[in-house]
Amino acid sequence: MKKARVNGKVVAASPDAPEMGYCPDCGGRVKIRHRTNMDGAVTYFYRHMRGEGKTCPRRYRPTCINAGS
Ligand SMILES: [Zn+2]
Repeated sequence: MKKARVNGKVVAASPDAPEMGYCPDCGGRVKIRHRTNMDGAVTYFYRHMRGEGKTCPRRYRPTCINAGS
C-alpha cells in the first residue's frame, strides 16, 4: 500500500516517511519497503509485516516479479 497510519495520521510512503506504521484498514503493523524499477526510479510502499494482515483487503503484492516472463 502507498499509505500507512502513523501517530494517528495517514502518511504516504516516501524516503522521509516513518519506517514503521499501521495499516489503515486492519490496523496490522506495516513496514516501509522500496524497490528500484528498471528505469532506476525508486518506488516506496508499505507492506504488512510477516504474519500480519492476513485477512486485510489491502494485502497484496506490489509487484509480481515472475509476471510476463
Ligand atoms: Zn491491513
